[in-house]
Amino acid sequence: MTIGHHPTTATLVELANGSLDLGRSIVVAAHIEVCPACQADLHTMETVGGCLLETIKPVPVDPGAVSRALARIAYEGGRPVESAQATVPAPTAVRFLPRAVRSYAIGDWQWIGPGIHRRDFEIPGNSGARVFLLKAQPGTRMPDHTHTGTELTLVLTGAYVHEHGRFHPGDIEEADGSVDHQPVVEDGETCICLVALEGTLSLNGLSGRLLQPFVRI
Ligand SMILES: [Zn+2]
Repeated sequence: MTIGHHPTTATLVELANGSLDLGRSIVVAAHIEVCPACQADLHTMETVGGCLLETIKPVPVDPGAVSRALARIAYEGGRPVESAQATVPAPTAVRFLPRAVRSYAIGDWQWIGPGIHRRDFEIPGNSGARVFLLKAQPGTRMPDHTHTGTELTLVLTGAYVHEHGRFHPGDIEEADGSVDHQPVVEDGETCICLVALEGTLSLNGLSGRLLQPFVRI
């Protein structure tokens, strides 16, 4: 898997020092599972953080923080990931469900717009971004939108493109109120993404305003 889009360094540091909310931490951790480059970056952060700690300077990351952050994600669902795997069915059509979400209960698919469905994870104690699977049929043009908060999207299957690039399995996209985009799902395969969304989407243009009441996201 060749990954072209990674979390920002700032996001990785937030994950490592525990300041990233649980919802977004889960999505970033799911990316890290399949991204050797980010695994290496986190390892470097831990090492550098540990060295700096010895000189008693303020540091963003302390030794072991990454491991603790990832362990917190795996266990926050109340049971170890390994034992949960057998009891949580994989969502339909998802060949690759990241370990980071396997311990959480998941709801049914809900229709949220033309060609688009959503399936929510139940994450106890999460006061940050909501986490859900977003499924869009090949060729679906998502509404042109911006965001009232942050949106982290990890592609699990299929691919989508928009004015800022092409995103395929393993790629992660970070967006916020400064980003305006209109993803279009490529032909051929259903696109399923793992999303952490803070706030809501704000649809642009006349068609977006007309559609807003119907797009429940
Ligand atoms: Zn990465």
